[in-house]
Amino acid sequence: MTTRLFPPERGPRPLRPSTCGDEVPHTPLRPIWCCRVDGQPWPCGQARLLLRVEYDGNLPGLSIYLAGLMYEAMRDLYRLNPHDGPTPTTLFTRFMAWTRRPT
Ligand SMILES: [Zn+2]
Repeated sequence: MTTRLFPPERGPRPLRPSTCGDEVPHTPLRPIWCCRVDGQPWPCGQARLLLRVEYDGNLPGLSIYLAGLMYEAMRDLYRLNPHDGPTPTTLFTRFMAWTRRPT
Protein backbone atom coordinates (compact mmCIF):
# COMPACT_ATOMS: atom_id res chain seq x y z
CA MET A 1 0.00 0.00 0.00
CA THR A 2 1.25 3.45 -0.81
CA THR A 3 0.36 6.80 0.61
CA ARG A 4 1.78 8.62 -2.38
CA LEU A 5 -0.79 10.56 -4.38
CA PHE A 6 -0.76 10.28 -8.13
CA PRO A 7 -0.55 13.54 -10.03
CA PRO A 8 -3.92 14.52 -11.45
CA GLU A 9 -4.49 13.71 -15.08
CA ARG A 10 -5.90 16.02 -17.69
CA GLY A 11 -9.46 17.20 -17.16
CA PRO A 12 -12.33 17.00 -19.63
CA ARG A 13 -12.02 18.45 -23.11
CA PRO A 14 -14.13 21.60 -23.56
CA LEU A 15 -16.51 20.22 -26.18
CA ARG A 16 -19.70 21.70 -24.74
CA PRO A 17 -21.93 23.51 -25.33
CA SER A 18 -22.44 21.63 -28.56
CA THR A 19 -23.98 23.21 -31.62
CA CYS A 20 -26.44 22.36 -34.32
CA GLY A 21 -25.22 22.35 -37.90
CA ASP A 22 -22.21 24.37 -39.01
CA GLU A 23 -22.28 27.03 -36.32
CA VAL A 24 -19.06 27.70 -34.47
CA PRO A 25 -19.59 26.50 -30.89
CA HIS A 26 -19.27 28.83 -27.89
CA THR A 27 -16.37 26.78 -26.58
CA PRO A 28 -13.13 28.15 -25.13
CA LEU A 29 -9.96 28.93 -27.03
CA ARG A 30 -7.11 27.52 -25.06
CA PRO A 31 -4.89 28.51 -23.40
CA ILE A 32 -6.49 31.94 -22.97
CA TRP A 33 -9.99 30.62 -22.18
CA CYS A 34 -11.93 33.13 -24.22
CA CYS A 35 -14.97 32.16 -26.26
CA ARG A 36 -14.03 31.30 -29.83
CA VAL A 37 -17.15 33.10 -31.13
CA ASP A 38 -17.42 36.34 -29.18
CA GLY A 39 -14.05 36.67 -27.41
CA GLN A 40 -15.62 36.96 -23.95
CA PRO A 41 -14.13 35.16 -20.96
CA TRP A 42 -15.44 31.59 -21.12
CA PRO A 43 -18.09 30.54 -20.25
CA CYS A 44 -19.64 33.54 -22.03
CA GLY A 45 -23.31 34.39 -21.59
CA GLN A 46 -24.37 32.33 -24.59
CA ALA A 47 -22.32 29.34 -23.43
CA ARG A 48 -23.97 29.55 -20.00
CA LEU A 49 -27.43 29.57 -21.56
CA LEU A 50 -26.61 26.64 -23.84
CA LEU A 51 -25.00 24.66 -21.03
CA ARG A 52 -28.06 25.20 -18.83
CA VAL A 53 -30.22 23.78 -21.62
CA GLU A 54 -27.84 20.92 -22.37
CA TYR A 55 -27.62 19.92 -18.70
CA ASP A 56 -31.27 20.59 -17.88
CA GLY A 57 -32.11 18.58 -14.78
CA ASN A 58 -28.50 17.47 -14.32
CA LEU A 59 -26.89 20.12 -12.14
CA PRO A 60 -24.37 17.62 -10.71
CA GLY A 61 -23.25 16.73 -14.25
CA LEU A 62 -22.88 20.40 -15.18
CA SER A 63 -20.94 21.11 -11.98
CA ILE A 64 -18.57 18.20 -12.56
CA TYR A 65 -17.95 19.24 -16.17
CA LEU A 66 -17.26 22.86 -15.19
CA ALA A 67 -15.08 21.91 -12.22
CA GLY A 68 -12.88 19.87 -14.56
CA LEU A 69 -12.63 22.77 -16.97
CA MET A 70 -11.92 25.23 -14.15
CA TYR A 71 -8.98 23.03 -13.20
CA GLU A 72 -7.77 23.03 -16.80
CA ALA A 73 -8.17 26.82 -17.00
CA MET A 74 -6.15 27.26 -13.80
CA ARG A 75 -3.38 25.15 -15.28
CA ASP A 76 -3.32 27.15 -18.52
CA LEU A 77 -3.84 30.63 -17.11
CA TYR A 78 -1.29 30.31 -14.31
CA ARG A 79 1.23 28.93 -16.76
CA LEU A 80 0.63 31.90 -19.07
CA ASN A 81 0.76 34.45 -16.29
CA PRO A 82 2.25 32.96 -13.12
CA HIS A 83 2.51 36.24 -11.19
CA ASP A 84 -0.70 38.00 -12.07
CA GLY A 85 -3.23 35.34 -12.97
CA PRO A 86 -6.85 35.33 -11.83
CA THR A 87 -7.50 34.50 -8.19
CA PRO A 88 -9.10 31.18 -7.26
CA THR A 89 -12.19 33.13 -6.17
CA THR A 90 -12.42 34.82 -9.55
CA LEU A 91 -12.17 31.51 -11.36
CA PHE A 92 -14.70 29.84 -9.06
CA THR A 93 -17.16 32.66 -9.67
CA ARG A 94 -16.55 32.52 -13.40
CA PHE A 95 -16.83 28.75 -13.80
CA MET A 96 -19.01 27.48 -10.97
CA ALA A 97 -20.97 30.05 -8.97
CA TRP A 98 -23.37 30.97 -11.80
CA THR A 99 -24.72 27.42 -11.96
CA ARG A 100 -26.42 27.71 -8.56
CA ARG A 101 -30.09 28.36 -8.68
CA PRO A 102 -31.34 31.38 -6.74
CA THR A 103 -32.75 30.44 -3.35
ZN1 LIG B 1 -19.45 32.88 -26.64
